[in-house]
Amino acid sequence: MRRAPLLRQYFETLLAALGPSGWWPADSPLEVAIGAILTQNTAWSNVERAIAALKDAAVLSPEALLALPEETLASLIRPAGYFRVKARRLRHFLSFLTAHGGTMENLRHVPQLRQRLLEVPGIGPETADSILLYALDVPRFVVDTYTRRIFHRHGLVPEDIGYDELQAFFEDALSPDVPLFQEFHALIVRTGKSWCRPTPRCTRCPLAPLLPPS
Ligand code: SF4
Repeated sequence: MRRAPLLRQYFETLLAALGPSGWWPADSPLEVAIGAILTQNTAWSNVERAIAALKDAAVLSPEALLALPEETLASLIRPAGYFRVKARRLRHFLSFLTAHGGTMENLRHVPQLRQRLLEVPGIGPETADSILLYALDVPRFVVDTYTRRIFHRHGLVPEDIGYDELQAFFEDALSPDVPLFQEFHALIVRTGKSWCRPTPRCTRCPLAPLLPPS
């Protein structure tokens, strides 16, 4: 089967089995971007606690966050883990945001935004693409460990495929479609968390019918 209909088959199978994901859970594009930085190397439930602490402290704006001493910011986001590193990364991103108009809306007009984001210390491809796709509705396909694991186990990509190559695997086949990209990545993550773990649980997984014959 050609790649586009094949990927559509994966998407439709997951959507039928799991239903819409409602990603990204956030009240604003800024909250999406902050969540994308805080979620590095931690569970989303920890990010939720950190963001709740920022809301309780009434500092969920670029100006208020940047006005906080770094130690105070770090202690507020402590539930997200690696809190000192993440406080520094948040400040780098917020400084970048401030230097480009101060609002997420203004970021849309920054030329070569993905490349500019990748130049912000602490923002790698997955974080940059999460901000682009879920905060700014830019059609970049977000890939991660789950994407690599699932599509390798199904014989479609090499185990050691790099981020850019894996992203191109999807973007070259699918037309740029923000809702599709948002939902597909979310479904892949949900599948990885529930079934496609280091030891796969294929028996109950919705993608089992799409496994190649062994
Ligand atoms: S069927 Fe197995 S290999 Fe495929 S996604 Fe599910 S758990 Fe992973």
